[in-house]
Amino acid sequence: MKRVIGFHYTLTDKTGTVLDSSIGDEPLYFLENSQQIIPGLEKVIAIMNVGDKNKIEVKAPEAYGDVNPELLVKVKKTQFPPDAKLTVGDQFQVNNDANSPVFTIMSIESDEVTVDGNHPMAGKDLFFDVEIVGMREATKEEETHGHAHGAHGQGHH
Ligand SMILES: [Zn+2]
Repeated sequence: MKRVIGFHYTLTDKTGTVLDSSIGDEPLYFLENSQQIIPGLEKVIAIMNVGDKNKIEVKAPEAYGDVNPELLVKVKKTQFPPDAKLTVGDQFQVNNDANSPVFTIMSIESDEVTVDGNHPMAGKDLFFDVEIVGMREATKEEETHGHAHGAHGQGHH
């Protein structure tokens, strides 16, 4: 039987800059062994108990992976829809599949656009401050779906 584990977290990079946090919001619930959270984080959380707090350092390969230079590509402007307004920093997906990589526009030249398909946190070592706030058995539905449905198994998604 898989478990659903809930935790609060604050994520910082190695300079201490906060990248993300659940504080002041709902804790994050995940179904274990379902790749809902990064492996380096799940490995430690899986052996914690409700009420435990921990600082967890996750190296890039166990977080969002190393930067893949092959995902930094130049695209002809003509490959974008003619009415597309291109701005550096904009993000888009090549197709509507939720699992396809998100590309970020890095620079715009006269007839080419450089885009980066790496995850924004690729290549970064991450530092999590976590507190476990809930733990229960997964419902059958959650096991079928492969993800958690919130604190009580009835969350929308
Ligand atoms: Zn579901």
